[in-house]
Amino acid sequence: MKTVTKSKIWLSSPHMGGTEQNYINSAFEQNWIAPLGPNVDGFESDISEFLGEESKVAVLSSGTAAIHLGLKLLTVESGDEVICQSFTFSASANPIAYLGARPVFVDSERDTWNICPIQLEKAILDRIANGVKPKAIIAVHLYGMPYKVKEIQAISEKYDIPVLEDSAEALGSTVNGVKCGTFGDVGVLSFNGNKIITTSGGGALISKNQKIKEKAIFLATQARDNAIHYQHSEIGHNYRMSNILAGIGRGQMEVLQDRVDARRNNYAIYKKELSPFKELEFSEDIPGYYSNHWLTAVLVSSYEIREKIRLALLKENVESRPLWKPMHMQPVFRNSMCYTNGVSEDLFNRGLCLPSGSNLSKEDLFRVIELIKKEIV
Ligand SMILES: *Cc1c(COP(=O)(O)O)cnc(C)c1O
Repeated sequence: MKTVTKSKIWLSSPHMGGTEQNYINSAFEQNWIAPLGPNVDGFESDISEFLGEESKVAVLSSGTAAIHLGLKLLTVESGDEVICQSFTFSASANPIAYLGARPVFVDSERDTWNICPIQLEKAILDRIANGVKPKAIIAVHLYGMPYKVKEIQAISEKYDIPVLEDSAEALGSTVNGVKCGTFGDVGVLSFNGNKIITTSGGGALISKNQKIKEKAIFLATQARDNAIHYQHSEIGHNYRMSNILAGIGRGQMEVLQDRVDARRNNYAIYKKELSPFKELEFSEDIPGYYSNHWLTAVLVSSYEIREKIRLALLKENVESRPLWKPMHMQPVFRNSMCYTNGVSEDLFNRGLCLPSGSNLSKEDLFRVIELIKKEIV
């Protein structure tokens, strides 16, 4: 029997633009092999230019590091409570625990799959009634789809609780033309290997306040006081981005819009080909909302059919993945508070992320589509 191994189709793989190596070479030529240098400064101004000049950017070793510093800058301390969207990747919530604070998980709404304004306000009122006002709200633009920015901002202002905007999956997404990453009191980006653009590993902290940027860099470089010797009055971190990796980032910024266009095009084709089937459901467009569609996610009519599709793809060497398992369902957070409405549990049970890379060929895209069709007709 002859077995033919089909080439692997990844969920989301790195996609270099071509000029990254030039920036790396110049770092080598100038011997800037360090967590500072011209590529670090250049990458920060590239991102700032993309987001809007009023955005101050500090590039860091990861998105997780950016969330950790972001919470610190919002003065979260041991014993505080921090509200966090439950339907997300664990990196949104872990830094709450690093600080000795307690997460309060809040469920999603159906339109964007992100933090539900009704549940959020309920959680805030309930915590205040219990004598603890949450210190911050972590809202996430999951799979590139912006959360209900206006509603969340209104609640943030009403109760005077700052928002940490986890935009790790949403670089290039906008709401009414305004870029994701710029809505929160602090914004966070990620450049991990699977994200819309990558530096292999990396992240950024965004703020409109130059002082916040400077404080982030201070904390990311071991919190060194202004003295001729090494002196420290605060606990610091080693969270700055390498000048080599920032070089990759500079090359990636040149092709960011192409990457967004390619991913949105994947989504449009999946939706056109698969939405006629009653078993498959795609999110509705929301006026003013522009998603980078980092990953195409589809809702299947039942858990059983979802699994049937996932396993059929796996057998053909195609990577797909259930949606994020909500934090309030995670063993590690089993004792944490949560305000739920059943939405994220349903999304987790029925949702599937499909191969979505900006380097996914048309041929491979249609290979995936045909495999899915075979399982539902
Ligand atoms: C990737 C991701 C992060 C963390 O970013 P890293 O750079 O991998 O540390 C945080 N939040 C969300 C929603 C993510 O997808």
